[in-house]
Amino acid sequence: MDWTENQQCVLCDIGGNLLVCSDDGCPISVHKSCMGCEAHFDDVGNFHCPYCVYKQYAAEASRLRSKVMLTKKALSTFLEADMRDDNHPEPVVETVNKEDDLHQKIN
Ligand SMILES: [Zn+2]
Ligand SMILES: [Zn+2]
Repeated sequence: MDWTENQQCVLCDIGGNLLVCSDDGCPISVHKSCMGCEAHFDDVGNFHCPYCVYKQYAAEASRLRSKVMLTKKALSTFLEADMRDDNHPEPVVETVNKEDDLHQKIN
């Protein structure tokens, strides 16, 4: 099937003014009105179909997940080292609060 000509909406099988997914190898073209959800455009205004947007974020999530695993391991090593020190101070978790204060000042 030649997707570069006579394209049809994947949802209603009718041609016309279609959004064509900019992802490599993705054959999806769809009417904005058929999507039923917000169309996603990247920084340069290219359309990406919900499937490719999901794929992109899923890949990002799994990359972040492996980062979380790594940093979690580092954190537990850090905490175990901390436990061995009898005079350790209470862990200070202030970063988030500071950011909230900052946001409140801006808003
Ligand atoms: Zn359609
Ligand atoms: Zn796509």
